[in-house]
Amino acid sequence: RQLQATLASGRGGRVELQSDTGGGLRSFSVEFIAECDEHGSICGALAIGRDVTQQVRGAHALAEKEREFRSLAENAGDIIMRWDTECRLLYVNPAGAGFLDKPLEQLIGRLPVDASGGGPFRAMYEAVLRVVRDGRPAMLDLRLPAPGGAGTLVHQVRLVPERDAAGRVCSVLGIGRDVSEKVAQLELIESLVRTDPLTRLANRQALHERAPALFAAARRNGRQVAVMLLDLDQFKSINDGLGHSAGDTLLCETARRLGACLRGNDLLVRQGGDEFVVVAPDIGDAEVLGAITDKLHRALSAPLQLHGRELHISASIGVALFPADGEGLEPLLAHADSAMYHAKRGGRGRTEFFRRELGDAVQRRLLLEAALREASDGAGLELHFQPQVCLQHQDRLVGAEALLRWRHPSLGMLAPDAFIGLAEESGMIVPIGRWVLHSAARAAARWNRGRCTPLRIAVNVSTRQFVQGDLGGELRDILAETGCDPRWLSVEITESALLENSSRVQQVLDGMRALGVHVALDDFGTGYSALHYLARFPVDGLKIDKSFVQGIGRSERENEVVKAFIAMASALKMDLVAEGIESAPQAAFLLAEGCLHGQGWRFGRPMPADRFEQLLQARAAA
Ligand code: C2E
Ligand code: MG
Ligand code: MG
Repeated sequence: RQLQATLASGRGGRVELQSDTGGGLRSFSVEFIAECDEHGSICGALAIGRDVTQQVRGAHALAEKEREFRSLAENAGDIIMRWDTECRLLYVNPAGAGFLDKPLEQLIGRLPVDASGGGPFRAMYEAVLRVVRDGRPAMLDLRLPAPGGAGTLVHQVRLVPERDAAGRVCSVLGIGRDVSEKVAQLELIESLVRTDPLTRLANRQALHERAPALFAAARRNGRQVAVMLLDLDQFKSINDGLGHSAGDTLLCETARRLGACLRGNDLLVRQGGDEFVVVAPDIGDAEVLGAITDKLHRALSAPLQLHGRELHISASIGVALFPADGEGLEPLLAHADSAMYHAKRGGRGRTEFFRRELGDAVQRRLLLEAALREASDGAGLELHFQPQVCLQHQDRLVGAEALLRWRHPSLGMLAPDAFIGLAEESGMIVPIGRWVLHSAARAAARWNRGRCTPLRIAVNVSTRQFVQGDLGGELRDILAETGCDPRWLSVEITESALLENSSRVQQVLDGMRALGVHVALDDFGTGYSALHYLARFPVDGLKIDKSFVQGIGRSERENEVVKAFIAMASALKMDLVAEGIESAPQAAFLLAEGCLHGQGWRFGRPMPADRFEQLLQARAAA
């Protein structure tokens, strides 16, 4: 056809022909040129053929390769992009277009940002231009919100300069890998390291990392920062009494309530145990601070339902202020701690601000603890005995309560209120309690020898001793060692020991019952009283607390309360001892209402063992 056309028009042309010359298919390029006679008329055509088999195969191979690479790029999970030297996008593969979440026509030929825009694209823009300028590869983390808004996608993009034949950078290739999952995992681990697993609050590590920035900002703005240390009151007895899961619930609820009180930039941390820290920046004056601590106390004071019981919780708060009380977290925490300790001493639910003198109180407490440790094997401890009498014949002794005293090396004789709490917190109450039981049993055995009416010695046992260790086993050994008859002992426990809703309490009480040891409930009506404990647990006796006895005669109502106690004990067939009797009318009232036994200053103060022994002998002789 080309030959005809050339002959007809005189215009040359080229055709590609293929023919099988025996050695396989070969390609020829044939050029036709018209030949003219001397008049200029076409008289023929010249055909020049060249074997172009090689070139054609090369071109095919190239197209094939190009298709292969394109397919690789188009189907790669990684994102692939290419920019020109001004950062206009030349190419993006489908994965890249998906990540950028825009149609191709809005991407190709465009800059990733307008010059003023910030954000992740700005970082990409600058990185690409830097690669063009420096001619060196670079890495870039590109973070974009995931399409659909669930989380963040993170691509780690490697930027490589591409050069032309002259060696100049002519484009930049970017290959990005999705590392979202890895980054999310790392971030999760990071956040776990800084979170308290129980309450999900920030933990001590987070406190130490974040607080310095708050102090630095306050310094710049001339503001104060309050560091508040908050410790729940009586958490130990709830935790020991109701069990750890109740304790956990209480801590979570505390965290929730505290969190609800705080402002956005306040930092709330669980330090550990029942200790929380609040770092509140931007404290202008004392009034603001007072408002915050009041709010915290109020939030905690709402009644709390825990395992079917209603509890009232409170916390003691110690406050130290940056920069007046310290320039860094450590001294501020130490000062808040001494203020908190002081708040505890003053009663429950209080706030105390750090004052220089307070530091000494903490020092004293540490010294006291060290000294008590020395004394916990009994050296320096003493039992005093307070007579218990028959209210009808008041010179007839029926027993005594053993009350602990500590002869401190330099402070002199200390009453239990000064050190029992410390002993409970430090766990020293267990060896101390064992010593008390042993000494009381020995005394009971000695004083009962040759008596016809038994003399019963009452021993106070802490909740911690009651739920930890093996009180039953210990008692059995002590009775055997001292030769004390179980009827000569009474164990006084407080209501918090019964709070634990578990078989443990039942087991310990059953153990004591099996031994034949009398169990009395002390301070009844002053704590978390609930009558159903009395129905549930085998308790033999009740002590009417001195606060009720001292109300006798003050009002009709207070009289009625005492009468109700007596009626209840008699209905439940429980022994009754009234304590804290100071006057004759109190004794008379109690006897008239049916309480048979009493204890109090009216009949004798707690006294050393030898004095009590003299009293016993004098009464026996009389
Ligand atoms: P408690 O068991 O209720 O002991 C009665 C407290 O009332 C004693 O205080 C006693 O001295 C005091 N008292 C007695 N009669 C009167 C009175 O007529 N008027 C007034 N105002 N007070 C009176 P004490 O000896 O200071 O003991 C305080 C608490 O320490 C005890 O209260 C008891 O809970 C605890 N305690 C004492 N000894 C031990 C012990 O060996 N182990 C444990 N775990 N706790 C102990
Ligand atoms: Mg007692
Ligand atoms: Mg009592």
